[in-house]
Amino acid sequence: MNYLRMENLELAGKRVMIREDLNVPVKDGSVTSDARIRAALPTIRLALEKGAAVLLLSHLGRPVEGESDSQFSLQPVAARLSELLGMPVRLESTWLDGVNISPGEVVLCENVRFNRGEKSNDEALARRMAGLCDDFVMDAFGTSHRAQASTEGAVRAAAVACAGPLLSRELDALHKCLHNPVRPMLAIVGGSKVSTKLTVLDSLLDKVDELIVGGGIANTFIAAAGHDVGNSLYEPDLIPQAQQLIKRAHARGGSIPIPRDVVVAKSFSADAKPLVRHVDEVGQDEMILDIGPLTAVEYSEIIAGAGTAIWNGPVGVFEFENFAAGTRAVAEAIERSHAFSIAGGGDTLAAIDQFGVREGVSYISTGGGAFLEFVEGKTLPAVAALEAVAQAHKTS
Ligand code: ADP
Ligand code: MG
Repeated sequence: MNYLRMENLELAGKRVMIREDLNVPVKDGSVTSDARIRAALPTIRLALEKGAAVLLLSHLGRPVEGESDSQFSLQPVAARLSELLGMPVRLESTWLDGVNISPGEVVLCENVRFNRGEKSNDEALARRMAGLCDDFVMDAFGTSHRAQASTEGAVRAAAVACAGPLLSRELDALHKCLHNPVRPMLAIVGGSKVSTKLTVLDSLLDKVDELIVGGGIANTFIAAAGHDVGNSLYEPDLIPQAQQLIKRAHARGGSIPIPRDVVVAKSFSADAKPLVRHVDEVGQDEMILDIGPLTAVEYSEIIAGAGTAIWNGPVGVFEFENFAAGTRAVAEAIERSHAFSIAGGGDTLAAIDQFGVREGVSYISTGGGAFLEFVEGKTLPAVAALEAVAQAHKTS
């Protein structure tokens, strides 16, 4: 991947605008999880060390575009960022017409989504944003799959555009994992629905040596293999596609194993009584909410033997303690394994934190949608723009 990297640029005395993903959960005016703010700190500190004046951009939530709404203000983010950096961080609410800033200062520009044209990647808006800086740094992997004014548009409009260290580290890790994997390569794809993961399953099948499915996705595969799934969440319309994937796996000399045992319950609730069943003994009034203990051991062994493991999607309803054992086993097997492991997805990250295995995963992607699109082999528009401007820079 050929783009400029912030680490290699001279930034002393420059106005540097950095697009981060500071879209954190906020409750009653306070940030409830600051992981994304912390992830951006090294980039911000590096820009300050290089002598830049730092302008930060981010979105927060889904406000009605074109309207400023205090509910989606970045004020709580400015406050938390200021604590973490140990210096004042000014929130600028009207910034598009110009910002007063000196080298060594950090200004957070109010929610980019308050500006009409952000989501439609309006060129004039992108030019106004890029016009505020000497160098534009794209550092928000989680938004790089969307062509918007503060991402793709500003990269193209800026005098100089580069990737920030958080973004380039993420791209390097994903690239290494997908294009130069240590074999055998394993993917674990769980979650609720096949429909949201069909394209990712499809493209992974050609890359990996082994594919494990879990969660609601596995239910559709269990049904595709001819078993009754009772009341389970599954997608009957997608059974033909699941059968197609199973066939393709066989044609490549592999397989998509289905759980040998499962944990079922009569209702979808935290206090529902868990029962372990063989996969072909699920009752009409039961739903599969987790993989069973034998399957958990089996999957853990597969994970132990992997050279590379890519994980997206919990294999059960891990939010309920009674149905969390399968996902815990997968998380702990990844933690123990020597494989280069990479995980992504909103709920997958929640599971990783719930089971305390963060340290044991080689790389945790900050992006949900962007992570899946990268795995699918799609071009991420903001990254493509970084490559295009670097190419133009070289040949001019
Ligand atoms: P991610 O955000 O990591 O990509 P998904 O959003 O695809 O993951 O799926 C996560 C959700 O899938 C969780 O809320 C989990 O409870 C649910 N899930 C997992 N297994 C099952 C199952 N057997 N039945 C119903 N829901 C399930
Ligand atoms: Mg999710």
